[in-house]
Amino acid sequence: MSDMPLICPDWEVPDTVSAFVTTRAGGVSQSAFNSFNLADHVGDTSDAVATNRRRLRAILPGIRGWQWLKQVHGARVVVVQEETTSAKADAVITREAGLALSILTADCLPLLLAAEDGSEIAALHCGWRGLAAGIIENTIQAMQTPPESILAWMGPAIGPCHFEVGRDVHAALSAILADDALASAFTPAVGEKFMADLYEVATALLRQQGVQRISGGGFCTSCDQRRFFSYRVSPVCGRNATTICIRSA
Ligand SMILES: [Zn+2]
Repeated sequence: MSDMPLICPDWEVPDTVSAFVTTRAGGVSQSAFNSFNLADHVGDTSDAVATNRRRLRAILPGIRGWQWLKQVHGARVVVVQEETTSAKADAVITREAGLALSILTADCLPLLLAAEDGSEIAALHCGWRGLAAGIIENTIQAMQTPPESILAWMGPAIGPCHFEVGRDVHAALSAILADDALASAFTPAVGEKFMADLYEVATALLRQQGVQRISGGGFCTSCDQRRFFSYRVSPVCGRNATTICIRSA
């Protein structure tokens, strides 16, 4: 796809579906945004972000549109046929070829979904608030593909080794997770805290919706600062971009 250092899903989708996560390498941003920051809302210079986004586009030549979201940690899903500039949502679905979908993250979980026949794709921004609010459920219900024909891949999020949360997060997710899923996703830690596993949470929620073919996970954005931006490590930081598109045949 390119000589940029990228992470590609190991899932069994048709070759017409391209997907990858950018790492921190390969861009021009300086200091806390070093170097491949794709976010234009985090304090990086607009010139650097524009250059980085041109390099991102070069990874997928021939793409006619590129959909970004104004991510708000909510549960709203948009279905797009062409690029729009003002979609305030945390998930996006398309059935169009040649339209790339990108999610920006630094610790939150980027989740990709694809129909097994490559006819429909989705990209989701999954922080704990969006997960608790139903972003996964809403997205799967908005897709035309039945859940048993959807494949899911979980990109780099903060891992259970570093994602310490309070009782509020546990309580919010206890409302939508079965007891056994809750127990495996939250490990009690000292001082009324928990170590939370976003991959376990997302996997349980996907399975509740009937999605069984789930891969990815196992990353930690806090442990691996060479490849990933981490908001918890440094609140002023860049964002990695997780991208999916249907290529024109
Ligand atoms: Zn870690």
